[in-house]
Amino acid sequence: MSQNAAVNSNSFLSGRPVVFRNATVLTIDPSIGMIGNGDVLVVDNRIAEVGRKLIAPENAVEIDATGGILMPGMVDTHRHMWQTALRGFGADWTLTNYFMFYYINWGKIFRAEDIYAGNLLSAIEAVDSGVTTTVDWSHGLQTVEYADAAVDALESVPGRFVLAYGNLLGAPWEWTKAPEFGDFIHRRIDGRGDMLRMQLAFDVTGDPTFPEKAAFEVARDFNLPVTTHAGVWGVTKDDSIRLMHEHGFMTPSTIYVHASTLSDDSYQRIAATGGHASVSAESEHNAGQGYPPTWMLRRHNIPVSLSMDTSVWWSADLFSAMRATLSADRSREHMEAHNRNETVTVSHLRAEQVVTWATLGGAQALGMDGFIGSITPGKKADLVLIKNDQSPVMFPLLHPYGHVVFQAGRGDVHTVMVDGKVVKYDHHLLNVDFAKARQEVMKTVEYARSNMGEQAWDQAMNPERAVVELIDNPYTYIGRAHDK
Ligand SMILES: [Zn+2]
Repeated sequence: MSQNAAVNSNSFLSGRPVVFRNATVLTIDPSIGMIGNGDVLVVDNRIAEVGRKLIAPENAVEIDATGGILMPGMVDTHRHMWQTALRGFGADWTLTNYFMFYYINWGKIFRAEDIYAGNLLSAIEAVDSGVTTTVDWSHGLQTVEYADAAVDALESVPGRFVLAYGNLLGAPWEWTKAPEFGDFIHRRIDGRGDMLRMQLAFDVTGDPTFPEKAAFEVARDFNLPVTTHAGVWGVTKDDSIRLMHEHGFMTPSTIYVHASTLSDDSYQRIAATGGHASVSAESEHNAGQGYPPTWMLRRHNIPVSLSMDTSVWWSADLFSAMRATLSADRSREHMEAHNRNETVTVSHLRAEQVVTWATLGGAQALGMDGFIGSITPGKKADLVLIKNDQSPVMFPLLHPYGHVVFQAGRGDVHTVMVDGKVVKYDHHLLNVDFAKARQEVMKTVEYARSNMGEQAWDQAMNPERAVVELIDNPYTYIGRAHDK
């Protein structure tokens, strides 16, 4: 008698072992590779066995993964989760519009409860779409009370998180020195083990006096990795990298977000000190930090992780990140070749590599690859089953890595497991208070809108348009209307 027939959401509450049956398993472990018709057995919170036709304990819950792809949970190394409270608001922004909105005009109006609301919705969204580890690049923490609210939200959702503590309205060399900052680390982070970790998040201005030095020293004292927006066109430049390097603050745990507009010299310093990049292709495409740099990073042997940046603008969908990254990389290779009057006949970047970046690459960037990032016996069980029997897109399944990148979407995420717990099954989240997230976010939207006033709200959402100048046409245009 198959146990599968009786599987429902209650089956996962008891701590019984779980066995995934008959999946295409992308282990992302180079020593195991891909397993067709594979099984994965999870006992307690760890991957116990990977193989075919595994013998599972009597009381194991069986998940029929036939027709599906089982892969490691995805890892997002840079997401401003608090901004999810205004999802989609900045769809037509430039980076200048973004800076004006958050840094100059309106960042200060957001309250601790607004951070909570955005984080709650974003955390649920992450888990729902198969992102089992998310770095909350939380640069709206005006006081420690805000940070408490951020962590309250993260802790109420069954995902793995890294709080990248930041405050865009303050100077990092000041807020990191506050006694309550160290107290916060002891109260909220210490002892949380693998489920909640912390980084320090701030940008390096390039000021030759290097005021950020004090913040880097605090990071070193607390043993916190630093994550920094680097190589952002017109904002953070080669000088920022050089100053970090000359003062000895570039380490293997440092994450360079975007890393787009940098010289060879900067890339060489990053490579030589073992740092990792966090590429947000959807963001770089739209905001203009620079071209998504994977095509350059591989030449400098800099390891890549993927990220979504912010849902105030674009998606928080790692499937979209994989697609955008692969498209950007190939697009650039074609463009470079065409400029040399050549044709690309061999694709550099492969789908398998991009799936690896979205999983193991993220774990490596966070220094967590010892226990997550691949389906390896002994690692913590963070897993995603992509399976959708109702979808015409899931058949035929011929090139599984390509299928993940170009065919599947987050609507196809069937089951998600974090730390051995099934948190989503059969396309439904388990034990997540979605109604509360909706309610909290609605309150934040109403508050922000009334605080800003209708006119400012509308202007911020609908920024000034660029003018299209028609190219002279010697054959004369036919007089149809054109974009203004
Ligand atoms: Zn960012």
